[in-house]
Amino acid sequence: MKKVAIFGSTGSIGTNTLNVIRENRDLFTAVTLVAGKNVEKLIEQIDEFKPQNVYIRDKANADILREKYRGINVFYGDGGMDVVSNLDDFDIGVSALVGVAGLKPTYNMIKKGKIIALANKEVLVAGGKLIIDLAASFGSTLLTVDSEHSAIMQCLNGEDHDKIDKILLTASGGPFFDRKIDEKITVEEALLHPTWSMGKKITIDSATMMNKGFEVIEAKWLFNVDPSKIKVVVHRGSLVHSMVQFVDGTIMASIGPKSMQIPIAYALNYPNRLPNSVEKLDLFKIKTLTFEEPDMNKFKCLRLAYETINAGHSYQIALNAANEVLVDSFLNRKVKFTDIPNGIEYILNIIDRQEIRNIEDVLNFDKEIREKTYAFLEELYGNAQHTTSI
Ligand code: NDP
Repeated sequence: MKKVAIFGSTGSIGTNTLNVIRENRDLFTAVTLVAGKNVEKLIEQIDEFKPQNVYIRDKANADILREKYRGINVFYGDGGMDVVSNLDDFDIGVSALVGVAGLKPTYNMIKKGKIIALANKEVLVAGGKLIIDLAASFGSTLLTVDSEHSAIMQCLNGEDHDKIDKILLTASGGPFFDRKIDEKITVEEALLHPTWSMGKKITIDSATMMNKGFEVIEAKWLFNVDPSKIKVVVHRGSLVHSMVQFVDGTIMASIGPKSMQIPIAYALNYPNRLPNSVEKLDLFKIKTLTFEEPDMNKFKCLRLAYETINAGHSYQIALNAANEVLVDSFLNRKVKFTDIPNGIEYILNIIDRQEIRNIEDVLNFDKEIREKTYAFLEELYGNAQHTTSI
């Protein structure tokens, strides 16, 4: 029986992870659940999965849980997050918080030598090589949960990495692939993802295609390939989850249903597959699969992400931090959709390369960039109150 701690249990990845556990109670048990604000959903999860430890961000919600569940350890705040991510009593940590908030707890779990089912791509974008090196030195296994990277991992099974010609990272293209991007785009329009149902932040990242830019960076670190070998391919149906082209011209593709339960279960039970209740694909109904090239001028975030890769670690931290602030501000209706790419470009242009030696440096530089991004917004919109929704 594998003991699982879910960081972000009330989110989209978290609830899909609990679906996997529900279908495989003989294999997995959820011993720790970590949530942000959604105390009602966390209570439902506690009642069903009976964890030993829970975390919720605010003290007021933690007090509600302490009152209701006398036998469970309840943690809250930054200190509580440090404690819960350093606990010994789980085998696999599912890293599914959103944004750089997931960096420190994932770092703690890596230092404990845990197996990490990694959904939170911002951890790799901001943490970069530090995370990969840390995992290697502490004997921690990083298993990706991102559907594209899980697909690539499966295409590479047993293959020699030297024989990779290209990683073909598929993208849905988001809601604006066939539509002009302009200042009038509303939050509702940007949240209408054509193929996946996910948390709000990643859905906006998909609309700007920053999500794909992050995934290029993620692929570079996970598979140790030169970024020039990672090509984004727009596949509107989201059925081909990604492909690897080898030096002999063979392309291995991972094709399957659009369900995050599949890559999550693959990571939790790696390297063995598990049956599930997800409806299988009927290729006769699908008939065709299409592939297109992304327009790097229209999707500026994707271009900027590529550009940061060779610019150095600090530029990827800045890319992520500015994006988090701007996406949050867009979701709070304080800035326009077009301010997201423009704001990130502005920030990348005004910063200098920094030496990033450890996770503290990452977090300090992340904070500095957030302040610079808020200052940019103040300049643009005057005294608007730019608050964070997390
Ligand atoms: P959601 O917004 O749906 O969920 C985020 C989770 O993190 C929620 O449980 C939320 O709690 C919790 N949370 C957020 N901030 C904090 C905090 N400061 N302290 C404690 N808990 C916090 O996001 P997703 O599940 O969509 O995405 C999670 C990560 O996985 C992201 O990095 C995303 O890029 C990545 N990912 C997601 C995919 C998907 O299909 N959704 C696919 C591939 C990768 P609460 O809701 O209670 O506030």
